[in-house]
Amino acid sequence: MIAKFQWQDAKSVQDAVDHLNGKTLVKAGGIDVIDRLKEGIDSPAKLVNIRTIPGLDQVREDASGINIGPLVTLAQLDTHSAVRGSYPALSDAAGHAATPHIRNVATIGGNILQRPRCWYFRNEQFHCRKKGGTRCFAQDGENDYHAIFDNRTCAIVHPSAVSVALVAYGATLELTGKRGKREVAIEQFFVKPDEDVHRENRLGEDELLTAIRVPKPAAGTKSAYMKLGEKESFDWPLAEVAVVLGPKPAVILGAAAPVPWRAQSAERVLAGNPINEETARAAAKAALQGASPLANNFYKLPIFEAVVRRTILAAAQA
Ligand SMILES: Cc1cc2nc3c(=O)[nH]c(=O)nc-3n(C[C@H](O)[C@H](O)[C@H](O)COP(=O)(O)OP(=O)(O)OC[C@H]3O[C@@H](n4cnc5c(N)ncnc54)[C@H](O)[C@@H]3O)c2cc1C
Repeated sequence: MIAKFQWQDAKSVQDAVDHLNGKTLVKAGGIDVIDRLKEGIDSPAKLVNIRTIPGLDQVREDASGINIGPLVTLAQLDTHSAVRGSYPALSDAAGHAATPHIRNVATIGGNILQRPRCWYFRNEQFHCRKKGGTRCFAQDGENDYHAIFDNRTCAIVHPSAVSVALVAYGATLELTGKRGKREVAIEQFFVKPDEDVHRENRLGEDELLTAIRVPKPAAGTKSAYMKLGEKESFDWPLAEVAVVLGPKPAVILGAAAPVPWRAQSAERVLAGNPINEETARAAAKAALQGASPLANNFYKLPIFEAVVRRTILAAAQA
């Protein structure tokens, strides 16, 4: 049963921030929040609804790139002409997440900040390490959908598709709290389990995510995103990859590790080389260096190798 909580419609960013403390929970689209309330993972004293704050649902373009409000929906990102034109990996990541109904409601901010979908974490019956327990039940349990990198402490996979693309494009996040605004590179925003297993990011308890800034890509930059799921429709990814081919190539894997995973060895293979079948194949092989699959997810290795290769080639042909 969901424990009782107060409901607060925020009028402005400042109004929302004034309400935030360790006992409150921000609600944007509510897709993840409502699940967490039902699953007993969260029992806040107050839910702060930020959908009532005007002006946070716009994409603005200027000479330095785009500025995305945290209430922009995944459906808006999928179809926005400036996003699709210059940041196709971001549009495609948003457009392939969840279902059309969910994409109409789910926001980019909520997508970045959603909590992991590990079935042990989401089940009240399992007091896993992330919830303050002493075990990661996935490590010797049902780990088919879990991490193949960095899975010693906690084997969750990072759930946000748009974050995979945003890391590839070098985005930054604007966070606003009681002490003002700060800006953090999205890649530094996520926290690995070895650093702190209880949290996935560095958002303070009195902070709101108030903007996502994506720099303008250098001339000639090409990019692509691909996702492979168990079934074609409405499924979470088994593997997802964003590739940006610019002055510094970026190859970022999702559904692979507890954070969006930068495949540095693959990037080194691509840097300064022509992009063709041979380099794409070599980079895809390199992307799996250091993988430590669990008992039931060795199958992800050839899948990632294929998706990385295909995404590199798709970006080159974009
Ligand atoms: C069936 C199904 C399939 C899905 N498949 C995918 C998929 O393939 N890929 C994928 O990426 N996602 C997938 N999702 C997840 C879904 O996209 C996210 O749950 C959704 O994007 C969350 O957005 P929201 O606006 O509803 O966030 P909410 O549920 O409102 O919030 C999520 C979290 O973010 C916090 N939050 C939200 N906005 C802010 C803000 N501005 N500042 C501070 N904190 C904030 C909330 O406190 C909460 O912790 C799926 C979900 C379902 C139910």
